[in-house]
Amino acid sequence: MDCDGETIECQVRRANEQPAVGDRVTLLASGGLCFLDTVLPRRTVLTRADPESLSATKTIAANVDFAVIVVSVKAPPLHVRLIDRWMVIAQAGGVDPLICVNKIDLLDSDEARRELDALRPYEELGVQVIECSASTGAGIEDLASALSSRLCVFVGHSGVGKSSILNALDPSLRLATNALRSSDGKGRHTTTASTLYRLANDIAVIDTPGVRELGFRMDPREVRWYFPEFQNHRCRFGDCSHTNEPGCGVKLAVRDGAIPRARYESYCRLIGAEPVVEPNGTSFRCINCGEQVTPDDSGTRHRNHCPKCLWSVHLDHQPGDRASCCGAPMEPVAVWVRKGGEWAIIHRCRECGELSSNRVAADDNEMLLLSLAAKPLAQPPFPLERLGG
Ligand code: GDP
Ligand code: ZN
Repeated sequence: MDCDGETIECQVRRANEQPAVGDRVTLLASGGLCFLDTVLPRRTVLTRADPESLSATKTIAANVDFAVIVVSVKAPPLHVRLIDRWMVIAQAGGVDPLICVNKIDLLDSDEARRELDALRPYEELGVQVIECSASTGAGIEDLASALSSRLCVFVGHSGVGKSSILNALDPSLRLATNALRSSDGKGRHTTTASTLYRLANDIAVIDTPGVRELGFRMDPREVRWYFPEFQNHRCRFGDCSHTNEPGCGVKLAVRDGAIPRARYESYCRLIGAEPVVEPNGTSFRCINCGEQVTPDDSGTRHRNHCPKCLWSVHLDHQPGDRASCCGAPMEPVAVWVRKGGEWAIIHRCRECGELSSNRVAADDNEMLLLSLAAKPLAQPPFPLERLGG
């Protein structure tokens, strides 16, 4: 135990709640020995899957302010998967994520800097992203001031430069670096016990093997709340898992590029599901006749009616806004000419009855268009009784 800067030995009785690194505790002195009395309430927690149980989680660190997610560019190249996983774990435990991109000295051209584009979604979520180089010292001061007087854990794949950054933050630390074993190219893990380092600038860093070999375990239904960008999109079902349900606003947003595909794929991986959104601009299967449709053919990326049967799907309120959470098939009921002479198909939703108009595409089935245009008034697409009433 660290007691006012002094390290003291302390016994933990079996009846005690097991303390985790970072915990604040009260102690009892008795008979020349020191006992842990209580573990004080935790402000934040970082948890991982308990390897000894199929369902339980284990607290690996307590009262951490920042999870510093370290990634590197070029060597190894930027990976966002680990960022997404840590974003979820951190938010779930009340810990602020901070992304630290190391090795920016290796980005020697504007072209090379494009690798950093993958981090834009996190900045848009309000996550602080700090670029640095442990080698040149660039950005280390920014990192130091962000972490000053905070308790942090550094997480990230081995080889990204975590030890080097800690050394740069406090040269007196002298941690061993160079994670690549020459024989198999895999990282080494030298830490076996949890350690709390106190660095210059009053930065405290927990290094724990539990953090590094983190297993992920969370109720799949909980994971979606830690993808804040999903909350702006409405789904037909309140408990939508954003995978197989019809009328899923999240999947539409991914398809239209409003939610980054990589984030959605991470989400699916974390809940153990296959990503099911068709890529934007590539084909989709017609909900009515099963035809494979390639939107590019019609020159519009928002196309969602099938050129063969002309059926569509109820996705939009206004063309292309993807604001509807209905998702039901839409039947082509009429052909109309808009102002300016542009032809449009009128669609009616089979489920909610909403009408919409869609521009006729160059490859639409002409015979079907004609038959719709010439549809006898015996089968009018709109209720005629309202006319002239
Ligand atoms: P860790 O496994 O995350 O602790 O990574 P290390 O700190 O051991 O660093 C892994 C390797 O990357 C070492 O060979 C370092 O010299 C190198 N490295 C660390 N930081 C930088 C950096 O900012 N720029 C470059 N070019 N190399 C770095
Ligand atoms: Zn959904």
